[in-house]
Amino acid sequence: MTDIFEAPADAEARRAVRPVVCYPNETLPAPDLTLFQQARLGAVKTGEVLAQPREAACFEVPAGHFFRISSVEGPQVGDLNLWNRKDLSERFYSGKTRALHGTHITTGERMWSSFPHLRPMATITADTLGWYGIDDFGGSVHDVIGTRCDPYTGNLLAGSQYHHCCHSNLTRALAEHLGMSRAEAEPHVHDVLNVFMCTGFTRDTGQYFMKASPVRPGDYLEFFAEIDILGALSACPGGDCSAEHSSDTAACHPLLIEIFAPAAGALKGWQSPQRNGYDGSHGQP
Ligand SMILES: [Zn+2]
Repeated sequence: MTDIFEAPADAEARRAVRPVVCYPNETLPAPDLTLFQQARLGAVKTGEVLAQPREAACFEVPAGHFFRISSVEGPQVGDLNLWNRKDLSERFYSGKTRALHGTHITTGERMWSSFPHLRPMATITADTLGWYGIDDFGGSVHDVIGTRCDPYTGNLLAGSQYHHCCHSNLTRALAEHLGMSRAEAEPHVHDVLNVFMCTGFTRDTGQYFMKASPVRPGDYLEFFAEIDILGALSACPGGDCSAEHSSDTAACHPLLIEIFAPAAGALKGWQSPQRNGYDGSHGQP
């Protein structure tokens, strides 16, 4: 884009102003990671679900249990949606999670829910890709900046009719799991946590980029469910997202979801978080 306005004389001085973090998060309620990780040691597996390549699968996790998403067979990226099992209107809020924790999340950080709830839905308790950090391109893993690949954007940019984007996979999986029509299910699908995806913004143009995920079979991301969760995970048609998505071109692999129940009494002192304390009046009686 070009525009007609010239930079002012003090342009450099204005650019040199130091940034301020929007939401200093020292006052965020901190999870008791030690308690969770101790509880995980004695937990037993209660079930598993496999998201097939270019498909999605739903799973349910009771509050106080754990779920693990693993790479199996080959490098693969997953698009994750979470809902309150008892109330689909409470769902993962990617934008606010990004504002609170940053562009990518890892161990100790949380997936926050939509207004008026704004509470932790799940806390990351283990991340085998935590070593990756931020690479020289500004890329990192497990982003909350992308949305989910979808057939509408594909149609906008390329006139395509592709049916196995994560948006469609999540829609079909949710519809099937809850016995809804696809039309009923679709509005519940929302912006995702991009599990294992390696992304950032280009420094020169500010564009969203992806690169081959560093994930390998055996890698996993594990969560503690803070409330009763209904989840859906799509094995993205982009595979490891090294080249393209929204097509059947990329090599694609399944993703494994496993659920674990802690031993009785292992979460002593923990309580499922209450919904946000704002009174909801918006200043009017
Ligand atoms: Zn996708």
